[in-house]
Amino acid sequence: ATAPPLPFADGTYVADLEGLYTPWEADAVPDARLLVLNTALAAALGLDADALAGPDGLAALSGRALPEGLRSVAQGYAGHQFGGFSPRLGDGRAVLLGELVDPTGRRHDVHLKGSGRTPYSRGGDGKAAVGPMLREHLMGEAMHALGIPTTRALAVLATGETIAREVPLPGAVLVRIAESHLRVGTFEYVTTTLDDRDLLQRLVDHAIARHHPHAAQADNPALALLEAVADVQADLLARWQLVGFVHGVMNTDNTTISGQTIDYGPCAFMEGYDPRTVYSSIDHAGRYAYGRQPQVLQWNLARLAEGLLPLLADDPQDAVALATPVLDRFRDRFTDAWGTGMARKLGLDAVPQDGLLEDLLELLTADAPDWTGLFRDLARTARGDATAARAHVLDREAFDAWTARWLALGPDADAMDAVNPLYIPRNALVEEALAAATAGDLGPYEALLEVVTDPFVVRPGRERYTRAAPPGDRHVTFCG
Ligand code: AMP
Ligand code: MG
Ligand code: MG
Repeated sequence: ATAPPLPFADGTYVADLEGLYTPWEADAVPDARLLVLNTALAAALGLDADALAGPDGLAALSGRALPEGLRSVAQGYAGHQFGGFSPRLGDGRAVLLGELVDPTGRRHDVHLKGSGRTPYSRGGDGKAAVGPMLREHLMGEAMHALGIPTTRALAVLATGETIAREVPLPGAVLVRIAESHLRVGTFEYVTTTLDDRDLLQRLVDHAIARHHPHAAQADNPALALLEAVADVQADLLARWQLVGFVHGVMNTDNTTISGQTIDYGPCAFMEGYDPRTVYSSIDHAGRYAYGRQPQVLQWNLARLAEGLLPLLADDPQDAVALATPVLDRFRDRFTDAWGTGMARKLGLDAVPQDGLLEDLLELLTADAPDWTGLFRDLARTARGDATAARAHVLDREAFDAWTARWLALGPDADAMDAVNPLYIPRNALVEEALAAATAGDLGPYEALLEVVTDPFVVRPGRERYTRAAPPGDRHVTFCG
């Protein structure tokens, strides 16, 4: 017999964490059709892309052909949504199919999104539409190409169903690959909602074994886990800020323990630099604005600390005293990673100590120039032509003074072009591509995918993909 298209390993989540899931099957997909198959990811996972594209592959990807003895599950979790606690969220339209071990020995979850109602669905229909699932695939691939830790889509299937939204839309299922789906909200669920100390111990052990194995040797493994999550999230947040990624829904159920970006809903890449930038239609107060993301993540880590509290120390006051410095550690590590990254964006080996980085941001605040385009144009300045960069700002005198300080440090223009993308998924182009795909034409989507997955290399004839929206043209994004 040939190997199955998705050769699942034994599931550690199901084996270790009884109490954190309900066995659940994905809905049957009446008319599954591949919209996207991520052949690069398939290869990295050691999968046979041709087998995945065949009839057995489609059955496996739609979650209805699990090997004997394996069960798909809906995972339980809680979460703070826009600051308010929801004790019981969970996979309302998703199931964990199983775990794969790639050729390098790394373990990955295979998870379906849009696979139908579950015991956690509340009022929802459990379904997903083609547009938002393709958006999740596109954004994840763009982030991956930028070197940012992220969950990725292995495939997007059109289901052949029509789902009810404001207008009827074609249905889809996303096959998501993640190092795991453990979230801050998983810990909140166990401690606050279930109040189950034994399960918390198993969850901590599982999370450590899977993501932060060095923490097992620490005197206080739960504290070491909290520190490890703070570290990976500080690095992640710095990377988001450096490319202008605005997540849009940084609820604690969307903050991973692995340090991967997850849940591409109303996310977007910032065009004009402005810390107040918000795209999500539901973020009225700007809670998750670009400039607030690091603070929000720190707040989410405080919620993780609360979830870990029973294991940090016997006395809750001692536990708080242990957890508090971790929040400072996050801030310091974020600041370092951001500074180092900004220096690299400016072609410098060392972080300038004279306020050069902060002064640049201060200068940009007045004009909100295109964040992505600016750094490519600054590389041209480093090569001797300041015209393009100067065109981004109105106060040329102040900008020239800043540029002179920066040029005196000897920036490396080629190094800049290697870290500053030329192509990001620009909002207008994403919308155009998703609208066409929803209407049945994948051409614009594939063309956009091609440039954002190779974002540093200039492609003649693709100038339109580098163009920023006109000032004041504020795109709005929606949860899918
Ligand atoms: P999100 O904002 O995408 O992180 O989702 C928050 C919660 O809402 C999760 O528990 C999801 O499973 C659930 N959810 C989102 N959309 C649906 C839907 N269409 N049907 C059922 N549950 C949903
Ligand atoms: Mg979510
Ligand atoms: Mg979502």
